[in-house]
Amino acid sequence: MAGGLEGRAVLVTGGGTGIGRACAAAAAADGAAVTICGRRAEVLEEAAETIAAAAGNGGSVQIVTGDVTDEESVQAIIAKSCEPTGGLDAVVANAGGGGGMGPYHMQDTAEFTRVLHLNVLGTMLCVKYSVPQMVARGGGSFVGMSSIAGHVPHPYFGAYCVGKAGIEEMMRNCADEFGQSKVRFNSIRPGFIATEIMEGVPRDSETYASYIDNTPMADVGQPEDVANLARFLIGDESRWITGTAINVDGGHHLRRGPNFGPFVAPALGEDVMKGNLPK
Ligand code: NAD
Repeated sequence: MAGGLEGRAVLVTGGGTGIGRACAAAAAADGAAVTICGRRAEVLEEAAETIAAAAGNGGSVQIVTGDVTDEESVQAIIAKSCEPTGGLDAVVANAGGGGGMGPYHMQDTAEFTRVLHLNVLGTMLCVKYSVPQMVARGGGSFVGMSSIAGHVPHPYFGAYCVGKAGIEEMMRNCADEFGQSKVRFNSIRPGFIATEIMEGVPRDSETYASYIDNTPMADVGQPEDVANLARFLIGDESRWITGTAINVDGGHHLRRGPNFGPFVAPALGEDVMKGNLPK
């Protein structure tokens, strides 16, 4: 695509790295006034240089630091994203992530809550403050970043799976609530995407092999694969699509989730992995 987002304001949360940075670059390339947010200014500044280099059709990029789990911070992020054009047309609520890997009977409550807050509350606060802005524009598009882990079991992923399922259900509810105002809500479900954070899965490990074995296309995806769908979902090309969740995973959802047992078991022991308490 070339053009089509001229004059549109797009916010990408967590836009300083990985998938978010690619989504921001795709939108800026097609003419959007993009705002990226994250917690670290230096990461955002570096990303903004790459995104600006990819910008075309009058597209631009600006940065704003902030934490999506903090209500005042999100208010400031949304306000900043409205500055370039006087409003907001689309949000890619990409900031999210996991943690606290292990069986549920060993979950640390504080860590479980942190991951839920990052994914679910972080997305909800972006919905809360962006909806009035998009309604004022006469419509808009909100993209929630789910995961294959939001609907295919991923043993030992703890709060991550629950949080991503929560994002999908929020997007469905929002699609129903705000359809009358022409604001659309959809989720993207990436499978394994080769971003910086996924470098933690060694390519010669049993866990990585389990991803490849369970992916019909026998490979992993790239950030641009997700960005292409995000670009479609925020543009007019998808004007009649709302309330959906779309996989970008080479077909991985047709099979079973990855096996992170070899990561977790050495620390806990086989007895605890079965659901017993540590002796
Ligand atoms: P990433 O860690 O590079 O991206 C997450 C971004 O969110 C980072 O820029 C991070 O700084 C930012 N962030 C984290 N907490 C934040 C907070 N409280 N406030 C503001 N920003 C915050 O990882 P990624 O691989 O690019 O993942 C991006 C999204 O895609 C995440 O929601 C992730 O769960 C999802 N996802 C990734 C994969 C994958 O294989 N890479 C698969 C499925 C889903």
